[in-house]
Amino acid sequence: MAVIHKIKELLFKDVSKENQLNDLSVLLRFLCVINFVFNAILTFFFAFSLKTPLFRWSLSFVVIFSLILWMTYWEKSSATVYIYTVAMIFSMMAYSFALGPTAGFQFSLYSLILLYCYKTDDNPASKYIISLIVTVIVISIWIYLTINSTVVGAGMAINSNVVQFSRMQERMILICDTFFLSLTFVTIASFYYLKFSSAEHKLVKYNKKLERLATMDPLTQLTNRRGMMDHLEEFIKESKSSDVWSLSLAISDIDFFKRINDTYGHDAGDYVLCELGKLFNEFMRDKGKIARWGGEEFLFAFENNNGDYAYEQLNKLKYQIEKKTFKYKEFTFYVTMTFGLEEYDDSLGLQKTIEHADSKLYQGKSEGRNRVIY
Ligand code: GH3
Ligand code: MG
Ligand code: MG
Repeated sequence: MAVIHKIKELLFKDVSKENQLNDLSVLLRFLCVINFVFNAILTFFFAFSLKTPLFRWSLSFVVIFSLILWMTYWEKSSATVYIYTVAMIFSMMAYSFALGPTAGFQFSLYSLILLYCYKTDDNPASKYIISLIVTVIVISIWIYLTINSTVVGAGMAINSNVVQFSRMQERMILICDTFFLSLTFVTIASFYYLKFSSAEHKLVKYNKKLERLATMDPLTQLTNRRGMMDHLEEFIKESKSSDVWSLSLAISDIDFFKRINDTYGHDAGDYVLCELGKLFNEFMRDKGKIARWGGEEFLFAFENNNGDYAYEQLNKLKYQIEKKTFKYKEFTFYVTMTFGLEEYDDSLGLQKTIEHADSKLYQGKSEGRNRVIY
């Protein structure tokens, strides 16, 4: 278990940070490990079947892919991709020339096209260029080796001019090659899946965050004017299908708020807004919705509650505010609020209902403040 944990830690090293392109380094690490294991198996195989030139080739590829694996821990994953590309082309060409076209090693080069499509930090043209290069190499290897082949494999899987294998050895090479090819493609496909599903997840998360930021007041954490308007329009639209529904809107404004700022400081004013926000949120929990309408104004929406009920409730709230002690630093003070209340009427519409509530608020201010006008 500890060994698996250590390997996992090594493979995923330096990719814990969000929004980093290091996942490409991790994919390269996986591909290098696959290439390393594949070449190591071939090294043993060629050593035991006494194919010295092939043994030297595969051993050098074991070393080359180990070095590239080590390079993935560098900062520049792009450079490592290019080096990996050259190593892949070189190794697959060497095996194809040694073992013949029917061994199928050249087809592994198609995985490079997938790798470059996965790599999103470069010019899109590079994906077409690498696709073209790979296709040209694969077809050229096939044509060249088929034309120059002396042994025509009648039923033979491996058709090589360089070395001869027994039927059993050929099968082992083919199995090994098929596993290598499948593993390479499955690994890249898995990385694709993980990358795009996590990108989709992030997009949904950030959209929700943006939506919340656009409709929320950061100081009081209440809905802002825009959020409230959206909510009210939605509420009215949905309620219209029902016969019995009502909506009462009240705009409230803190009395002499400027004085609080001037006397105790702007931070004390902010503190009052936050404390009132918490009080209103709790108060409206079972009655409807509250929003910071702007500055030191709040809008109360009593949903499915008529004007008489809202009037009674706002008077209770007005009393609670009057009694509330605000303690900020060494200061202790009290505030009052004035409310203008209007019951929603379909013939009036939302905008006009708010305007009527607003004029009643100003009426309340001119009549002496700390009151509810309905
Ligand atoms: P009135 O009773 O007539 O409403 O008097 P008032 O002093 O409350 O009214 P006025 O419109 O003159 O002042 C409102 C003040 O509210 C002015 C502005 O600086 C303050 N204010 C608006 N938004 C904020 C805020 O987010 N934080 C703080 N601390 N003050 C704010
Ligand atoms: Mg005010
Ligand atoms: Mg005001």
